[in-house]
Amino acid sequence: MISPSMSPRCHQMILLTQAEIDGELAVSEAISVASHRANCLECQTAYQVIRVMRTAVRRYAVRHGAPPALRNWLLAMSPRAMPTGRDPKEAAVEWPHSP
Ligand SMILES: [Zn+2]
Repeated sequence: MISPSMSPRCHQMILLTQAEIDGELAVSEAISVASHRANCLECQTAYQVIRVMRTAVRRYAVRHGAPPALRNWLLAMSPRAMPTGRDPKEAAVEWPHSP
């Protein structure tokens, strides 16, 4: 998906596309990524691959829940502890932007 021959811009866009698909981008970033993708075949292909992989992992990956004691300990240790059922997008971490 990311190849050495890829332009730095496409490399950055594909990394952002992964965040976009996970719902982790601000609206302005999502618009920027979508605008680039609309005119870039390489990024369109990467977008499709990421979406197919994400669907396959969600459908077929084996999931194991943390034991209740571990889960409760982690939630108690986290300054961003949140109750079950809260929208994870609300707890998304803001990453600093490079200057
Ligand atoms: Zn591109």
